[in-house]
Amino acid sequence: MQLDLTGRVAIVTGASRGIGRAIAEALAASGAAVVVNYRGSEAAAAEVVEAITAKGGKALAVQADVADPASHEILLKATTEAFGRVDILVNNAGITRDNLLLRMKESEVDDVLQTNLRGVMLLTKAVLRPMMKNKWGRVITISSVIGLTGNAGQANYAAAKAGLIGFSKSVAQEMASRGITANAICPGFIETDMTRNAMSEELINKALDRIPLARMGQPAEIANAVVFLASDAAGYITGQTLAVDGGMTMY
Ligand code: NAD
Repeated sequence: MQLDLTGRVAIVTGASRGIGRAIAEALAASGAAVVVNYRGSEAAAAEVVEAITAKGGKALAVQADVADPASHEILLKATTEAFGRVDILVNNAGITRDNLLLRMKESEVDDVLQTNLRGVMLLTKAVLRPMMKNKWGRVITISSVIGLTGNAGQANYAAAKAGLIGFSKSVAQEMASRGITANAICPGFIETDMTRNAMSEELINKALDRIPLARMGQPAEIANAVVFLASDAAGYITGQTLAVDGGMTMY
């Protein structure tokens, strides 16, 4: 199986920690040059770049707020200036602003939709043109099992993540003739700052009860799926939604 990404250039949004960091490191370990996008944490992004280059990989940290379309051009320009092209976009950056719908503030709706859905749509739009020139591209969007099942207290997040699935399928249809595939990954319950900050021990144990594999997933397990979908080995896979969730959504 051909998982070698040598010569490919990838942008990973929100790559200074968590799942994004694991994806950036895994793509680089497979040979891709990686743009480590971050919003605020310059030191953390620099640490990811250092970890990649220490292993002989190629990486560059680029600051850009995915919620702000003005910064998309900056991200794209920095990528092509450093590495000459862009082949793989991993839409990973995401936020939560949890609240029951009846208590949810307008700003909690807007912030989540702006970053998790609108930002992804507009950044993908910006990146598709250079991919079309190369007649090859991979758009891999990190949705969530919450986008499949919904979740009390996360109506904003669930709406955005479900929206990403329809968005990814639409991109797959529009871009199939251009050699560009688009797929969505739905992580289940993954051990990162996002889950650690948001959940009590009790909630974690409750969630584990619903996972057939009976454990939280690791960021590297999402990264493995991304590397596969980014590779030539996945060239016949597009418009799909892959749950990497320990079996949580199989029933
Ligand atoms: P995390 O909070 O640890 O990391 C998210 C990263 O995105 C952070 O580095 C953050 O700074 C960055 N980010 C947020 N807004 C941004 C913006 N506007 N521009 C640029 N970067 C921005 O979260 P994580 O757990 O690593 O999650 C990564 C992705 O996986 C998210 O899309 C999340 O919704 C999704 N996901 C996570 C889980 C889980 O269990 N952890 C489950 C399902 C889906």
